[in-house]
Amino acid sequence: MRGVAFRLRGELPPEAKFLLEDFRLAVNNAVRAGLQAGVTSRNALAKIAYKDFRKEHPRMYAQHLVSAFEVAGSVIKNYRRRIRRSGAGGVPYVRHLMMKTENQAYKLDRKNGVVDLPIRAGRHVMLKLEVSKYHRRYLDDRSLTLGSLTLLPDRAIVAFRKNAPRPYVPESALSLDTNEGSLDGVFFKKDEAKAVTADFPDVAIIQQRHHDRRRRLQKKKAHDRRTSRRLCRREGARERHRIEHRLHQIANSVLCFAENNRSVVVIEDLRGFRPKRNKELNRRLNLWPRKELHRIIDYKAQWRGIPVVKIDPRYSSRTCPICGRIQDSRMGAEFRCDCGWRLDRHTNASLNLLQTAISKGLEMAGGLRFNPGAFQHDVMMILYDPVAGARSEPNGTSCVGEVTS
Ligand SMILES: [Zn+2]
Repeated sequence: MRGVAFRLRGELPPEAKFLLEDFRLAVNNAVRAGLQAGVTSRNALAKIAYKDFRKEHPRMYAQHLVSAFEVAGSVIKNYRRRIRRSGAGGVPYVRHLMMKTENQAYKLDRKNGVVDLPIRAGRHVMLKLEVSKYHRRYLDDRSLTLGSLTLLPDRAIVAFRKNAPRPYVPESALSLDTNEGSLDGVFFKKDEAKAVTADFPDVAIIQQRHHDRRRRLQKKKAHDRRTSRRLCRREGARERHRIEHRLHQIANSVLCFAENNRSVVVIEDLRGFRPKRNKELNRRLNLWPRKELHRIIDYKAQWRGIPVVKIDPRYSSRTCPICGRIQDSRMGAEFRCDCGWRLDRHTNASLNLLQTAISKGLEMAGGLRFNPGAFQHDVMMILYDPVAGARSEPNGTSCVGEVTS
């Protein structure tokens, strides 16, 4: 599933605008009703609130009302998650004008880029979408079916669904340890294994810079909390966009490499991974890009049919892949074992991930076997170069240079 945003050509017709307002009202009412009754699912919300709603919004198309319940459900879920995490938060309220509707409830003329949206029985509005070359790729690809439509005052987001292609049978493996400023790992195919790396030092730098700036803003505007909060939110959105853009580039280069080599991608399973309490906020800030990078790799891989395997990262940084000994504590930049094995700490962790994946036989139908001894220490392949990568290729791929040190 992929959401593609279209700008609307011209102004939103007034009827559609009223619909957005009604929809927002319905969502906010459902949120209140749901919180009171302690329910979040669309069906449960519909059960407790549908009748009243029909009375209050007699003109609204019934399908839209059902999606309002669904949106309300996810608002409540997010609210609960926030409460669980930080213990605070006012009653949630949707401020932006928006509506969402499922694919049964609207029509899209894919040739002309026109959305036919019912308002109420017998009444429709036509919304013209701005269609660029990028949009054409989605509209013209008939293997993509339409999912939900999200309408905002100035744009429409159409979800395109693709039956995920069956992942290929891997002929090689790309195992990656995810760190604050890099992916480090090993690529192996038949008898050869090489170190690989994708550096993104700037993600941490952007985060730090924005973190500092937010701090300064908070201090400067300490007397005006509303302004300070608004400015901080804007800072936050800008930061996320910039980091996200970079993460997409990294994911694209990694997956392009994996696809060309028909590799299975092995990464850590970061679910449930929580930074230690005493190091609090700073660390939490730094974890988000890693989880986000994995999320992006995940869905892009699914879209392209690239197999991904996730491995519990426990002990992966402390285990010797040769003799299996687990070291007591973390070490410096290099992993050293009494048996004589030495390797860059991160690369070593990725070897362990790879071995676990292979020993579990996960997705490794090709019968890959790996011998850490075959690892070539002197070759480093660059999967992503932040300097070259900044110039993104039009098709989102950039390919790999091989560097021998
Ligand atoms: Zn050892």
